[in-house]
Amino acid sequence: MSTTVDLSRIHFPVTTLGPGRRIGIWFQGCSIRCPGCISMDTWVHGRGTTTIDQVVEAISPWFSTADGITISGGEPFDQREALFELLRRIRARTNGDILLFTGYPWTEISEALASSTNLIDAIVTGPFDIDQKQTLALRGSDNQKLHLLSPLGRAQFESFDRSVDERDRTFDVMFDENGDVWLAGIPARGDFRRLRAILEGGGSTLRISEDTRFPSL
Ligand code: SF4
Repeated sequence: MSTTVDLSRIHFPVTTLGPGRRIGIWFQGCSIRCPGCISMDTWVHGRGTTTIDQVVEAISPWFSTADGITISGGEPFDQREALFELLRRIRARTNGDILLFTGYPWTEISEALASSTNLIDAIVTGPFDIDQKQTLALRGSDNQKLHLLSPLGRAQFESFDRSVDERDRTFDVMFDENGDVWLAGIPARGDFRRLRAILEGGGSTLRISEDTRFPSL
């Protein structure tokens, strides 16, 4: 029987989280719960339950044209067994690079990665810290670290080891059938609140997924 996994979303193409046109897979459920997280909708565990077989079947049509895969969340390492099975299945099907975002620091996941080598090419580690600035590409706060784990990872992501610039200030925008608008990318601090203020200024109402209990720097 196929392993179950809770996912928030899969999407193709994603163009804002790594190079090229990418398959995006967002895990559902996060036990880290960083203050100021922009994705509170992904915190609850036990939603979006599916199986690895179904995920692989859903993303298979995209493998031939995808440049890479980006896995984020939620927290992928909260579902470690499912994550590694999914990574193995993806690795067997594509030569594209695999980028993963985790809120756990490197020291907490390096042992698990060492026992399952060659499944991830690049990984961004560490929790989002609202007290830190956001000046680095691919990172939501400057405490987060980009690790290049393979020759493919170095080839694809060395150029992201730099300061953030206008190339990074873009979003993929998706519209769900229920009227939700969903953005993929790494916003500058306060972008979501600015967007809400603009729309509310025009008479619209917008609920955002950001944890707004904390002041945005
Ligand atoms: S930033 Fe990532 S690790 Fe932190 S609470 Fe949000 S989803 Fe979880």
